[in-house]
Amino acid sequence: MTRMDETFGSHVFNDYVMQERLPKETYRALHKTIDEGRRLDAQVASVVANAMKDWAIEHGATHYTHWFQPLNSVTAEKHDAFITPVPGGRVINEFSGKELVRGEADASSLPSGGLRSTFEARGYTAWDPTSYAFIKDHTLCVPTAYCSYGGEALDKKTPLLRSMEAVSRQAVRILRLFGRKDATRVMPMVGPEQEYFLVDKDLYDRRSDLIFTGRTLFGAPPPKGQELGDHFFGTIKPRVQAFMTELNEELWKLGVPAKTEHNETAPAQHEMAPIYSIVNVACDHNQLTMEIMKKVAGRHHLMCLLSEKPFAGVNGSGKHNNWSLTTNTGYNLLEPGDSPHESAQFLLFLTAVIKAVDENQDLLRASVASAGNDHRLGGFEAPPPIISIFLGDELTEILEALENGTDYYGRERSEMAIGVHMLPKFPKDTTDRNRTSPFAFTGNKFEFRSLGSSASIATANVVLNTIVAESLRQFADELEGAQDFQMALHELILRTIREHKRIIFNGNNYAPEWAEEARRRGLLRLETTVDALPCYTAEKNIRLFETHRVLSESELRSRRDIGLDSYAKMIAIEARTMLMMARREILPAVVRYAGELAEAGTRIRTLNAELPREAGESLTAEVCRECDGLSARIRELERVMEKRPDGEDYEKNARYMLETVRPVMNALRAHADRLETITDRKAWPFPTYDELLFNV
Ligand code: ADP
Ligand code: MG
Repeated sequence: MTRMDETFGSHVFNDYVMQERLPKETYRALHKTIDEGRRLDAQVASVVANAMKDWAIEHGATHYTHWFQPLNSVTAEKHDAFITPVPGGRVINEFSGKELVRGEADASSLPSGGLRSTFEARGYTAWDPTSYAFIKDHTLCVPTAYCSYGGEALDKKTPLLRSMEAVSRQAVRILRLFGRKDATRVMPMVGPEQEYFLVDKDLYDRRSDLIFTGRTLFGAPPPKGQELGDHFFGTIKPRVQAFMTELNEELWKLGVPAKTEHNETAPAQHEMAPIYSIVNVACDHNQLTMEIMKKVAGRHHLMCLLSEKPFAGVNGSGKHNNWSLTTNTGYNLLEPGDSPHESAQFLLFLTAVIKAVDENQDLLRASVASAGNDHRLGGFEAPPPIISIFLGDELTEILEALENGTDYYGRERSEMAIGVHMLPKFPKDTTDRNRTSPFAFTGNKFEFRSLGSSASIATANVVLNTIVAESLRQFADELEGAQDFQMALHELILRTIREHKRIIFNGNNYAPEWAEEARRRGLLRLETTVDALPCYTAEKNIRLFETHRVLSESELRSRRDIGLDSYAKMIAIEARTMLMMARREILPAVVRYAGELAEAGTRIRTLNAELPREAGESLTAEVCRECDGLSARIRELERVMEKRPDGEDYEKNARYMLETVRPVMNALRAHADRLETITDRKAWPFPTYDELLFNV
């Protein structure tokens, strides 16, 4: 066994390696670029490229690639070998500064949502020096942003980097007002908890739905699900433990600080959480984590399912996005402070988030929207599609005391003006036991729990960073112009609480009464992806993203269209897979089985024997009846699929899939699942839930 502290980051061109391998001036110049977002000098780039190449080759790399995150939720890479021919029929290894800094990707097949037409297929990748290069599969991967010739973002990383700048810019303005001159940058820090399922590879291979859609489209509930709660935090089975151990080792080599592992609520469901890091790195790491999970699973003859809802009836998988703001001097702005001064600053940042979430429920919901995640949100297992904030009783009471503090105000005017003098010491460990909230304050960070397990965390964090930047911008505008800072601060906090407290909800988010209460409070309820995504191009949102230079109107439109288009396509794939399985696997199997039943019945009767009702005609009749129902639904699904609109109106296409196709799929499934429960186990054409969920 090698020691982990020795191998951690061994495949990463990290700061330690840079310091060791780069000339002092180059290292310093590169750091200026990284720390201050300066432009990288060509001279510096070529020295860095050369050092990177030597290091990579020593570590077994033969190729390099610009690694980027296009607008579908995967990563893209095109490998180029380092070799360059030299006279005499030989080759040398080369990697220039230009090749490091910028790449051209003829990626006409990647979605651009109208930002780039196919005839001008080129996109450009640009090195993101704030995320370390790493080696994966003998390839040096250079994390990059991906843009069109005109500079429009064709990826998820570019807006993420822009949103980081936006929130930093505004947060620093606020810090200046509090006299904090030391901090020059504020960084969103994120720790994404990743949930996933593991199933046996042989069973997986026999299910077309898992192969084509990543989730089961059929399956009756097993006799035992998650009702005993015996899987969550349960003992980890040896095969799963072996997977987790190897996963950790692989991730550690890549510098991903994998930290926590445990069994999750549903049978066969697990979770991995890394130690948090700056959000663009956390995002890269999470993409890597998902990739490595799948790869390592294969080595254990397992399949890793990252889909949001692989199985009906048990919990689906999400990705809890723990988010905070930290200064470059290492101070967490969401950490309740000890002194009144710190507490006032904490309260201002806290209320900035509260205001941001209340004013942008639509964007937060849209940022997690996908066909898969719709099954989860509102399924009494994950947060509902209604966005609200959990603050915990103590913090809520503090805000209430502040809001109703007229008494205090009268009596202790001067202290109250500072805002917080009489407040109790803030609870440091408001560990939140309310797991039903979509957006919970957990002591010194917010946990956004609505993200789907397969999605990139980029989009949700772009929204989070930008909407908080906007609150902070408004706050800074107001406070910078104030005559009396303390008074203005106090009034601003009070007003914000008063105007936005409707978004705070500490109760059970799964309770039906909450939906009713939320409606009374005027909170948004965007049930599906189709309801949520169009909001990207609402007037207020275009203004918001343009103000902070995070996304332009056309970039927003592209994201809305790609989201709606993928939704329609995903459901179309599911419908076709369903039809294939129903027509070519389920129907033939049950018709054969019905025939056997009928034949057995006849044979028994010729023996003049009494036929037990249950085992004989009634069963045959029931199977035949369900078969008829299934056939009818198959024909109906074929019919509605044929009539599917396929034009440029992506919202219309998506809505048709939601409102016309989905219900037929549900009806079809009901017949099939019923058939599964009355058909001879040996006759059923593919593995059932009890096998899939309990076999590892
Ligand atoms: P739980 O399941 O109770 O939410 P976990 O330990 O599974 O807790 O996950 C918590 C996540 O939050 C980890 O990824 C952790 O690194 C991250 N985290 C902790 N502190 C912060 C912070 N200040 N900012 C962002 N993320 C944080
Ligand atoms: Mg958590």
